[in-house]
Amino acid sequence: MSEQDHHHRTRRVQVGSVPLGGGAPVAIQSMTNTHTHDVEATAAQIDRLARAGADLVRVAVPGPKDTAALPEILQASPVPVIADVHFHHQRALEAVAAGVHKIRLNPGNISDRPQVERVIAACRERSIPIRVGVNEGGIVERRDQTKRAAEKSRLAETYHSGLIELMVEKLTRTIRVFEENDFTDLVLSAKSADARIVIEAYRALARRFDYPLHLGVTHAGPPETGRIRSIAALGTLLAEGIGDTVRISYAADPVVEVEDAKELLNSLKLRARTEPELIACPTCGRIEVDLIKLVQDVRRKLATIKTPMKVAVMGCVVNGPGEAEGADVAVFAGKGKGIICVQGRQIRTVSEDRMLDALYDECLKLAEQVASGQAQLSDAPLRVGPPAHPLADDGATPA
Ligand code: SF4
Repeated sequence: MSEQDHHHRTRRVQVGSVPLGGGAPVAIQSMTNTHTHDVEATAAQIDRLARAGADLVRVAVPGPKDTAALPEILQASPVPVIADVHFHHQRALEAVAAGVHKIRLNPGNISDRPQVERVIAACRERSIPIRVGVNEGGIVERRDQTKRAAEKSRLAETYHSGLIELMVEKLTRTIRVFEENDFTDLVLSAKSADARIVIEAYRALARRFDYPLHLGVTHAGPPETGRIRSIAALGTLLAEGIGDTVRISYAADPVVEVEDAKELLNSLKLRARTEPELIACPTCGRIEVDLIKLVQDVRRKLATIKTPMKVAVMGCVVNGPGEAEGADVAVFAGKGKGIICVQGRQIRTVSEDRMLDALYDECLKLAEQVASGQAQLSDAPLRVGPPAHPLADDGATPA
């Protein structure tokens, strides 16, 4: 799977300068958590998100003062902006008039057909796509008590499969309204906080529709726990070729969402790396230096380098030399010292306290040489396993 052969089955939707679906790379999005009417704070956060790698940013527009802030925010934003609309279709109309690049509508709380049709007409006039997204939390009917009771009893009998059916059913009904109005500039989502439900719901959407899909695990929690839940669901779907844009949702600084989404897409080779890739041994009883601290120090230092080189930090000579051969810059440690390698060549041996600086210096040097065309990054696959080495004391390969 690659950036090119990933999305072959959806139509393409254009969100400002960013295409979604139809073979386009998976786009990363996040959402601001500032008050949108605080233009300065919102514009600053959008800027941070875009610098971190967000292709699209969504802002909530709960009130008229938020939509009134949109023209200024749009002017300042380096990436297309999506307006997140709940309850009041009027906010969608105001956001469209302000020039947002996409609208997110929740059919669970804006379901009045004439109101939806007014939003459709406004978006069509300006070629603005709309995401219609259902969430597990809002899927059961709230107003009509008879319908509510029927849906609840259906879920009580077959919660997992019944819920997915209900999500797809409600989305299908909403999509029909758009299609009857000749509007197909749609992106779909069906979110839940349960990773298994997310996987099943999106598989069902992918079987049924050819609209681009916005992937997300909603209310995933803080990064420490939400990360596993999100990656389990989104990683599974993306590896199956499902998903055109992702939003990881954490109760945290949204920049973390973007960083994790980027790492996920990089790991699945759905996006080309633009920064160094850090490979490190997991440590074991052979370790003779404080490798865990070294790895964290290297990670922090590499954040300043914008060349997608492969950097390996290895704890011993068992796997160290093999990793070092496949990496652009590497260190493998022995007792109180480390051997620095650049593109497979052993450059020098340094004392433990010099390992960080020596490794970083070589990374900087290589980045400059790559930028000036004097060197090329190695794309050799990593060899894991001990080559013959005079310092190796056993042949185990626990890493
Ligand atoms: S054997 Fe593997 S895990 Fe153990 S220190 Fe060496 S490289 Fe690290």
